[in-house]
Amino acid sequence: MRIDEALSWAIKQLEGGESPSVDAKVILANILEKSQTFLFTWPDKTLDALQTNQFKDAIARRRQGEPVAYIVGKRDFWTLSLFTSSHTLIPRPDTEVLVEQVLNWANENERKNLAICDLGTGTGAIALALASELPQASVTGVDFQTEAVKLATRNAQANGISNARFLQSDWFHSLKDHTFDIIVSNPPYIEETSPYLNEGDVRFEPKTALTSGLDGLNDIKHIINAAPQFLNKGALLAFEHGFNQGDAVRNLLLASGFTAVKTVRDYGDNDRVTVGLWE
Ligand code: GLN
Repeated sequence: MRIDEALSWAIKQLEGGESPSVDAKVILANILEKSQTFLFTWPDKTLDALQTNQFKDAIARRRQGEPVAYIVGKRDFWTLSLFTSSHTLIPRPDTEVLVEQVLNWANENERKNLAICDLGTGTGAIALALASELPQASVTGVDFQTEAVKLATRNAQANGISNARFLQSDWFHSLKDHTFDIIVSNPPYIEETSPYLNEGDVRFEPKTALTSGLDGLNDIKHIINAAPQFLNKGALLAFEHGFNQGDAVRNLLLASGFTAVKTVRDYGDNDRVTVGLWE
């Protein structure tokens, strides 16, 4: 089968899905180990038998709804290419807003050798984006899943990042005696009974990375309560949260004594990130 034929076949197979054309191109480029530009430049190149079978299998998985990031085993985030696994959430573009907020604060800060902690690091996306932009910082990413710790460590190596390390820890549990200048987290925050959990790609992602009690705020509350003893004076606490949780997260931070509390919107103009300072 030629590249152009393979693509039109796949696009037909994926008809009615969210993004048939993009999905088909990402999957084929991955199997051929080429860029997407290659697909346009060489439409008449033919797939060998192995590539054809791999492509058919991958398209069949996508037809069943499996996320492209799990099928190809990787996803770009920030400037990095990250390996993914079904044990962790797939990195999302909106989380780059959280990275940007932390970087803005870090760049305004006088100190260069910042100690940063990413709670519930998953693929390591936030920790590694920050470590790559702040080479003098030392970043600790924690996750309660050992699979995530291994994956994030592999992502650090693959992206040549040496100032981030990853530990198994249930939130702060293994961090006793450590303090940080920045604690950042994209914790699970979706309401346990939300119908959104039964839609699209999210169905395939681990519930433990997505949901947190009836109002979605259990883990955020736990982190806000526990954080002060792990924060240096003047430190930043920054969260990603649900589009409808800005008020709640601001109020929780203020009630715990955080200052300069503010919420920032994502690329879809929804409340998505809230930060506060521990003075
Ligand atoms: N933002 C993600 C979503 O909408 C949820 C991520 C999370 O719970 N941390 O699917």
